[in-house]
Amino acid sequence: MAVDLHTHTIHSDGTLTPADLVKKAKKMQLSAIAITDHDSVSANDEAIISGTEYGVCVIPGVELSIAHDLPGSGHMHLLGYFIDYNNLPLKKTLQYLRNERIHRMEKISACLRELGISITMEEIIQFAAGGSLGRPHVAALLVRKKYVSTMREAFQHYLKKGAPAYVKKVKLNAQEAIQLIKNAGGIVLIAHPISLNFPVYKDIGTEILKLKKIGLDGIELYHPAHNPYFTHWLQNFAEQNDLLISGGSDFHGAVKPENKLGSGNGNLTVDDQVYYDLVAYHKKKNN
Ligand code: AMP
Ligand code: FE
Ligand code: FE
Ligand code: ZN
Repeated sequence: MAVDLHTHTIHSDGTLTPADLVKKAKKMQLSAIAITDHDSVSANDEAIISGTEYGVCVIPGVELSIAHDLPGSGHMHLLGYFIDYNNLPLKKTLQYLRNERIHRMEKISACLRELGISITMEEIIQFAAGGSLGRPHVAALLVRKKYVSTMREAFQHYLKKGAPAYVKKVKLNAQEAIQLIKNAGGIVLIAHPISLNFPVYKDIGTEILKLKKIGLDGIELYHPAHNPYFTHWLQNFAEQNDLLISGGSDFHGAVKPENKLGSGNGNLTVDDQVYYDLVAYHKKKNN
């Protein structure tokens, strides 16, 4: 059977509730999923309860954006798996990051208004329905309000790094994020390493090894943004450097229909052995 270890819900910038996500996973015949909302762990409880009901294993997780000097549109995201989502320092830090996302969104919406777009914070907050506020929420709203015809266009014209309504996000550094997840009993993997954006794969490897020195446990090997050459290279790299592997579709629901649950862009399959290896590793570490 297959698994999908990178998914988002309405608790961040996805469009499904945790229960509906689990239901969909069951329908897609997935045996396990990981919930990896941006800066939020509040979907995990409902997902785990639904998982028990539907017979889908659920890894409680989170995805964090990391402050790091990277070329061009490069960005570093870390995934935390098997976290104790009631851990107080973790909850407090995530609350802080979500508050900062609100401040950032106030700036983004002000920039958009200056560009002549009619958009308010109230609309954005209502649209996000309690999820940690992200650019996909504004992008989807701009589509709905017919200022652009696609989310992609919203990012291109307004929201991507360098565009007129781009505002930087407050982020933890790698050391802080790794410690936060580890102190909450979790393990840490780097999400979609291709997004580090170094033109040469070897330089991505160098960055990963630096993270390993400060506690990184593994890498997300299978991801829709990874081409077959990179996946092949990364698999060898993981084997040579004793790094755990994971993979998932980065499912967001309707805001990113091209990332299909369980199959990504259509070619992605993550064998359930990947899940079992992660479980075994986490168990061994916490014994
Ligand atoms: P934020 O956390 O607010 O910075 O938003 C990050 C989210 O925006 C991620 O889920 C990305 O998938 C999405 N995103 C970033 N850049 C683009 C882009 N150029 N086109 C579409 N989605 C994007
Ligand atoms: Fe997202
Ligand atoms: Fe990500
Ligand atoms: Zn993600």
